[in-house]
Amino acid sequence: MNNTQYKAPASVEKAIELFSGAEIGGKLLAGGTDLLVQMHSDMIAPALLIDLKKIPQLRAIEKEADGYRIGAAVSGVELMNHTGFCTTWPGVMDGVKLIGSLQVKGRASVGGNICNASPAADSVPPMIAAGALATVVGPDGARIVPVEDIGVAPGRNSLQQGEIVVSFLLPNQLAGSGGAYQRFTPRTEMDIAVVGVAVNLTLDKAGICSHARVAVGAVAEKVLLVKQAGDALIGTRVQDDATDNLVTAVRAACRPIDDKRGTREFRVQVAGVLARRVVATALERAKGSGQNP
Ligand SMILES: Cc1cc2nc3c(=O)[nH]c(=O)nc-3n(C[C@H](O)[C@H](O)[C@H](O)COP(=O)(O)OP(=O)(O)OC[C@H]3O[C@@H](n4cnc5c(N)ncnc54)[C@H](O)[C@@H]3O)c2cc1C
Repeated sequence: MNNTQYKAPASVEKAIELFSGAEIGGKLLAGGTDLLVQMHSDMIAPALLIDLKKIPQLRAIEKEADGYRIGAAVSGVELMNHTGFCTTWPGVMDGVKLIGSLQVKGRASVGGNICNASPAADSVPPMIAAGALATVVGPDGARIVPVEDIGVAPGRNSLQQGEIVVSFLLPNQLAGSGGAYQRFTPRTEMDIAVVGVAVNLTLDKAGICSHARVAVGAVAEKVLLVKQAGDALIGTRVQDDATDNLVTAVRAACRPIDDKRGTREFRVQVAGVLARRVVATALERAKGSGQNP
């Protein structure tokens, strides 16, 4: 760690130049709550740290015509203090609020949580359920990547050499939408999800589900978008039969590991239990959000 250089560029262009340029072995630093832990435990020893927190574009929370755009280095606490975002995306905030302690959330970003590519990361399932789209910029220009396509395997993401996630767009939702996220942990605080489930759904004016996305964490090598689970709700009033079908789809998608924190069987079982609870909360929030019976 002693030979590591630190640079804090003020623009995305400068950050990309540093990251993709001559200085090989650079690492992007947002809050550092994963990265610095990895450095201290000698898992990585970057020659250069490129601090993203001084780039205004990565620190902004803005309401645009298409939805909310949050900079990739916005911290959890900054999101928690943004009333408009919290009101619009309570399911995403369920996940953000679970990331570590208040001190950790003061630094930790959603961008870092997603790019670190832990299958158990708490903001990732609700961001996927929300249909969030990442703007990724690199030496070859910009591209839009759905959040479900960023994590690939534990600690490995799909970003190419020199690429940085600049922001996430959470697209506008119709009235009658609601989302929720819950995780199971042996302790109530400061623990890693054994399983986490997020649901985002929309009810039309007649109370029929017109849109639903379901994402499940810690049950595979990456957070899974379970399309069949969302499809089980669409066209229904989200009553018992539909929820039973969603639970079946969630359990069928799980391919967890066995470890000291939970057996395969336990994780599959809990995924279904959480899915049922999360749908109930998302439904309640959708009904309370405006137009629906
Ligand atoms: C005590 C403690 C408790 C924790 N509890 C939880 C928890 O309950 N739930 C949970 O999900 N996590 C938890 N974490 C993990 C961590 O806080 C989160 O993953 C956090 O969101 C990471 O964000 P960061 O800004 O600190 O990322 P960093 O550590 O700065 O970066 C993480 C990784 O992402 C890369 N990266 C960061 N930003 C970008 C970008 N814009 N573009 C491309 N790559 C980027 C970095 O290079 C690095 O590889 C905990 C950590 C600690 C220390």
